[in-house]
Amino acid sequence: MDRSLLTEVQFVKGVGPRMAPNFHKLNLHTVQDLLWHLPRKHQDRRNIPPISRAHPGTTATVKGKIRHIETRPIRGGRVILKALLEDETGAMILTWFNQPWVKRQLEAVQEKGYEVVAYGMVKENNYSCEMASPEWEAIGDEDDVNEFARIVPIYPLTEGIPQKTMRKAISGALDGYLDLVEEPLPVDFRRDYRLLEIKKALSQIHAPQSLDAFEEARKRLVFEEFLYMQIELALRRSETHQELGIAFPIDALIAGQEPESPLAGSASAAKTSRKTKKSDPLPTDLFDELDAEKRKNRPLWDQIQEMLPFELTGAQRRVVNEIFSDMKSPFPMNRLVQGDVGAGKTAVAACCLLAAVRSGYQTAMMAPTEILAEQHFRGLTRLLEPLGIRVELLVGKLSAKERKAAYARISGGSAQVVVGTHAIIQDTVQFSHLGFVVVDEQHRFGVLQRKAIRDKATLDGQPTNPDVLVMTATPIPRTLTMTVYGDLDLSVIDELPPGRKPIKTHFKRPHERQAVYDGVRKLLQEGRQAYFVCPMVSENEKVMAQAAEQLYESLANEIYTEFKVGLLHGQMKPAEKDAVMIQFRDHQLDILVATTVIEVGVDVPNSSVMVIEDANRFGLSQLHQLRGRVGRGQYQSFCILIADAKSEESQERMDIMVETTDGFKIAEADLRLRGPGNLAGTEQSGSLDFKVADLVRDAVLLEQSRQAAMKIVDADPKLQSKEWSRVRDRVFSRRSDLALVTVS
Ligand code: ADP
Ligand code: MG
Repeated sequence: MDRSLLTEVQFVKGVGPRMAPNFHKLNLHTVQDLLWHLPRKHQDRRNIPPISRAHPGTTATVKGKIRHIETRPIRGGRVILKALLEDETGAMILTWFNQPWVKRQLEAVQEKGYEVVAYGMVKENNYSCEMASPEWEAIGDEDDVNEFARIVPIYPLTEGIPQKTMRKAISGALDGYLDLVEEPLPVDFRRDYRLLEIKKALSQIHAPQSLDAFEEARKRLVFEEFLYMQIELALRRSETHQELGIAFPIDALIAGQEPESPLAGSASAAKTSRKTKKSDPLPTDLFDELDAEKRKNRPLWDQIQEMLPFELTGAQRRVVNEIFSDMKSPFPMNRLVQGDVGAGKTAVAACCLLAAVRSGYQTAMMAPTEILAEQHFRGLTRLLEPLGIRVELLVGKLSAKERKAAYARISGGSAQVVVGTHAIIQDTVQFSHLGFVVVDEQHRFGVLQRKAIRDKATLDGQPTNPDVLVMTATPIPRTLTMTVYGDLDLSVIDELPPGRKPIKTHFKRPHERQAVYDGVRKLLQEGRQAYFVCPMVSENEKVMAQAAEQLYESLANEIYTEFKVGLLHGQMKPAEKDAVMIQFRDHQLDILVATTVIEVGVDVPNSSVMVIEDANRFGLSQLHQLRGRVGRGQYQSFCILIADAKSEESQERMDIMVETTDGFKIAEADLRLRGPGNLAGTEQSGSLDFKVADLVRDAVLLEQSRQAAMKIVDADPKLQSKEWSRVRDRVFSRRSDLALVTVS
């Protein structure tokens, strides 16, 4: 039979047809799968000290003869097995729990007088040292102690495949097939980035001669893995840049000149405006006049100043300028604006919406919930309406009649800023000349929805590729931005508006709860409002709702009988949720008991304290988001974390929350402590399943591979040259995998 990388595992030496099904369980079907089944770590068993020199608290390999074996029953019907291992210098006790068969094996070894090597953590024992559940092997006449005493790979396993079998299978694959592996990276490139050749990397990662050699091998494989992703992202970015978008006349606006209308010269221009007049029941003429009056050649920055009740911070101004320069360019903008809660993203969005409207385009702003959409609607109306700009709200709960009127204003073009939920991207909504879209809190929106709204934008039935601005309050560590959002350009609002009083965070144990209640009572008596976030008892919404109800009952009927308490959880209907939120906003409620449904964007400046029960169960970024619901007004605000944080890690997590209000620091810590899968914003991303790479550990390589990918794609935008053909194949097959992930 032909040897190939696609040869089935059963033909690999050390596997065989009987073992093969177990390998299939791990998705290992071919030789190639085996070669790329990488060890999750290594044990360095090379150092074999005399037993008397093995240090407690270190892992070591020891060698000697078995002198004594005994078993003893312990609690719960279990058995402990102890064996004395001795060399010329001393002895050590090896122990195994509940593995009676080890006893028989050891006895056989003892009988033959073979030596035993054992690897494990050395612990102090009453008289000597002890090693619990060591990995071990007998050294028979034909065995080579070096086979055991080397750097040994530890593989991910499944039932039915012992570590030794896996090692044998993989070394069988290396011996028989490694020469067939092809190098995908050009030699010059490997030289520039100091990357091992692929065959060398594979053989060294499975059987490293030294720990340095292992690191070298790993580096090569991590870099390659990152490179494919980064090339894919770079290609996507460069494709967007090849489409033609809208070049907004920002310079003219800044200079105070009246720009040409995008509808001028358009076949539908006359038609559109006539239609508007007919179907729109409002006095648009008056509106137009007012508008015309106000816009009279006022330089854009003057209009912005007039619009905002405050000066933009330096960071806001910088980000607005970054967006303006994207808007000016003829390519579609795809920009992510990150800013911590309260950094003033809405003001930035308002400036850009103003510029787009003044350029003659319609704009849209999408929020993930109706409450947030309404909040944006009120905020934007307050800012933009005095400038004569018409803001429209489009949410699910409009009556049929209201909706129809709204649709008419949107399709007629008189609605200049349309704010809503995903209702905006329903098929029935037709824009007349949409040019600029803001998506708020984007981790709730998928890539597909971004595409849907992009497709909404047409002028005369032709797609116009509007500029898209994505805003998120979730601080995302840079490593994740380069992966999950790697196809977007990034702006960061890294400065808070002046005069904010930082939220004071306290960490309390459950037995201090009474003091917490008393403290909150004092604030309520001063006229403030409070949130109580109930413990995250389960992923299950129903169970969560029950927990919320329990907390609600206890607070309303026992603790705070003199105050009005409301309840908000995910099992309530949207209309009920809205009603409660509105009551709380209007201070008809003093306390809101809620699950994490309040996490995003809700703005009630009078609430100055949040108590989070069982805070330990939440991710740090989530705690940060929750905490951002207070500290939004002029009052000193507090966040009380109640947790029974026993472990060191829990304690560390709570400490981080108490010490810093910097969302980026918190997100970095979250990434470090919990890994990327648990961070907000990454749920929908199938692109974070790395085989070798680790986002925390390999941040530097990620950055390098990103630079490399950009250079490659800049020089060869379609990856057509021969030297990159293998890389291209891999990126494209990856791409079809990703497409499947996104669609399903
Ligand atoms: P975000 O959406 O980033 O959480 P918002 O845009 O809602 O933040 O702004 C939070 C609060 O700060 C709002 O009340 C807003 O009016 C105010 N604000 C925004 N920018 C400034 C600024 N430059 N100076 C003073 N206050 C500001
Ligand atoms: Mg916001």
